Amino acid sequence: MRYLVFAANWKMNIGPLEARYYLRSFLDAGPLPAGREVWFFPPAVSLEAVAQSIKSREQLLVGAQDIYWEPKGPYTGAISGPLASQAGARAVLVGHSERRHVFGETDEQTGKKMAAASAADLQPVLCVGETLEQREAGQTLAVVTRQLEAAFAGRPRSGRVTVAYEPVWAIGTGRNATPRDAAEVHTAIRAWMGAHKVGETRVLYGGSVNLKNAAELLAEPEIDGVLVGGASLDPHTWAELVRTGAT
Ligand code: PEP
Repeated sequence: MRYLVFAANWKMNIGPLEARYYLRSFLDAGPLPAGREVWFFPPAVSLEAVAQSIKSREQLLVGAQDIYWEPKGPYTGAISGPLASQAGARAVLVGHSERRHVFGETDEQTGKKMAAASAADLQPVLCVGETLEQREAGQTLAVVTRQLEAAFAGRPRSGRVTVAYEPVWAIGTGRNATPRDAAEVHTAIRAWMGAHKVGETRVLYGGSVNLKNAAELLAEPEIDGVLVGGASLDPHTWAELVRTGAT
């Protein structure tokens, strides 16, 4: 059976109370098709509400959008892996394009966060992807390879790892990569991960995925699932999207 992951990145939306309503509507849509997992990445303040709402349902998981690499201390405004874990997180996004391009996170910092995720027993979802300028200059694979090298530099190479290929030019723009373009990068990611013995790897695609283009993207065998921002904010749309193409 083919396994697919549908990851919802709520970004800076949906507080704890809204999260409880959201999950109620989402769960009311009925059981998930077999072979599918749905991961929620709410803002930190809503982690616990989501964790409590999904309880220990096997196909559902909650994760943090970001962590700082130190486990605790005087880092105002940050949350650590152990704190996210205490709130119910089992995974964490690392190096999301908005962390890199809005908050100036470097490749080296992404590497430290990968190590911190491992230390806190959080499954990392490493986000990689090129800007439009880099794509047009033919640098896509070089950029993605550099990001992988930095991310895995200090991390124990075992356990399950998920990589999300998210071209920066496709995030929140309404312009998605074609399944073929995504597949080319996914193949290169898998080859790099295999050559560096990183462990069991899943490669998701992210960037303007919606109800109209999800089926076409998911039909590509190189795509193990999707990471979705805008189209995950409404529980009814998201409930429909996670059933895309299921029989
Ligand atoms: C994201 O935030 O990771 C993302 C892919 O956003 P959107 O689906 O809105 O492009």
